[in-house]
Amino acid sequence: MLTIVSGASKGLALPGQDIRALVDRGLKSSFWQLRLPDGLEQQYLQDSIEARVMHTQRAGWFALFVFNSFLLVDWLMVPDVFWRSVLIRIAVFSPLGIAVLLNADRLARLGHDKSWVNVADWMSLLSGWGAALSLAVILWMSHSPWVHYYHAGFLVIIIYGNLVQQLRFPFAIAFSLGVLALHVAGVALTADFPPGIRVGMVLMLLVTASFTLTANYLVERATRRRYLLAWRDDQMMEELSVLNARLQKLSRSDVLTGVANRRHFHTHLQQAVARAQDAGTPLSLLMMDVDHFKAYNDRYGHPAGDECLRQVATALQTHLRHPADLVARFGGEEFVVVMQEANEDAAACAADRLREAVQALNMRHEGSSSHTVVTISVGAATLTPGGGATTADKLVSCADRALYEAKRGGRNRVQLFRDS
Ligand code: GH3
Ligand code: MG
Ligand code: MG
Repeated sequence: MLTIVSGASKGLALPGQDIRALVDRGLKSSFWQLRLPDGLEQQYLQDSIEARVMHTQRAGWFALFVFNSFLLVDWLMVPDVFWRSVLIRIAVFSPLGIAVLLNADRLARLGHDKSWVNVADWMSLLSGWGAALSLAVILWMSHSPWVHYYHAGFLVIIIYGNLVQQLRFPFAIAFSLGVLALHVAGVALTADFPPGIRVGMVLMLLVTASFTLTANYLVERATRRRYLLAWRDDQMMEELSVLNARLQKLSRSDVLTGVANRRHFHTHLQQAVARAQDAGTPLSLLMMDVDHFKAYNDRYGHPAGDECLRQVATALQTHLRHPADLVARFGGEEFVVVMQEANEDAAACAADRLREAVQALNMRHEGSSSHTVVTISVGAATLTPGGGATTADKLVSCADRALYEAKRGGRNRVQLFRDS
C-alpha cells in the first residue's frame, strides 16, 4: 500500500501560507471552478493519490473481467472474428492490463518521487483508450452484418472511464474525445455504414459522453469539497483541544500567583492520600502563612501586598526539588505544599529551605513586630505508613495546628505536628 503523505495531512504541510484562508476561498469558489486555490491543489492531489490508486486498481480488475466477458457479445455479433477477438482480449490486452494493475502502486510512487501526481490518471486513461482501440480493431476486421451495432461498445467504454474509473475531469474529457475520435474514424472508414445508424450512433455517443462527463464533474467537485471540509473539521478539533487544555489549566490555577488554586489542591491531596495509603509510602503536607501580612498591606498598600504574594509563591515554587511536589494557594496569604513520598525529615528539611528562601527575598517589612523583612511560618504534618487510616481533611487540620504552634512560637519558624 502507498504511503505518500503520512496520516492524510490535509494540507498541513504547506509552509508559510494562511491555509485556513485558502480553504475558505476554496469552499466559496464558484460552481464552475474545480481547481483548488494555488498551493492547496498540489496538496490535495498528493493527499488523495493513495485512495485514487486503490480505486484505479479495484475498478480496473472489475473492468478487466467485464472486458473479457464481452467475448459473449463478440460471439453473437461478430462471429467471423471471434477467435481473433479472443486473441486480442485474452492474449494482448489482458496481460498488459494485469501487468499495469499489479504494478499500479509502484508506478504511482514513481510519479510521486518526481512530484508528478498524474500517474494514476494516465494509467486509467491509457487502459481505457487501449480497450477502445481493441474494440476498434475488432470492428475493423469484422464483416459481420451486425458490425454497425457493435459500435455501441464505445458507449460502454465511455461509461467505464467517466463513471466507473472516475477519471479526473480533464482526463475524462481527453478520454471521451479519444473514444469519440475512434468511433468517428471507424464510421468514416466503413464505406457501407447505414446513414441512419451512423448519425444515431454518433449522437448517442455524444449524449452519453456529455451526461457521464456532467456526473464525473459533480462527483469530483463533491470530493474536493469534502477534502476542504475535512481539513476545516480537523482544524476546528485541534483549536478546540488547545482551548480545552487552556481552560483546564485556568480552572486549576490561582489568578494572582499562578500556582495551583485551592480546588486543585483539594483534588490533588485526596488522590495523593489514597495513593500513599495504597502504596504504603509517606506523604507530607506543609502549610505556610505570611507573617504579619495585614500590617504589610496597611503599610505598603494592597497592590504591593499582591506583588509580595506573587514573589512568595515564586520562591516556594522554585525552591522545591521534587517535580511531583505541588504548591497551591490555600487562601489569602496562606500557601500549602503537598510532598509525595516525603517522610517527616524530608518535610522538615524542605519546610526550612522554603522558609529561608522567603526570608532571602529580603522584602522590607517595616510593619512587622518580629522581623524587618517578609517571613513565613510553616506547619508540617506527615502521613506515615502503618500510621492508621487518615483523610486529606485530617492531614490539613494537623498541618494547620502545627502552623498555629509556629505562630505562637514567634513566627518565621517551622513546626512539625506532634499528636499530644
Ligand atoms: P499572622 O502573622 O498572625 O499571620 O498575621 P497576619 O496579619 O498575616 O494575619 P491576618 O489573618 O490578620 O491578615 C491576613 C491579611 O492578608 C489580611 C488580608 O487583607 C490580607 N490578604 C488576604 N488576601 C490577600 C490578597 O489577595 N492580596 C493582598 N494584598 N492581601 C491579602
Ligand atoms: Mg492567615
Ligand atoms: Mg499571616
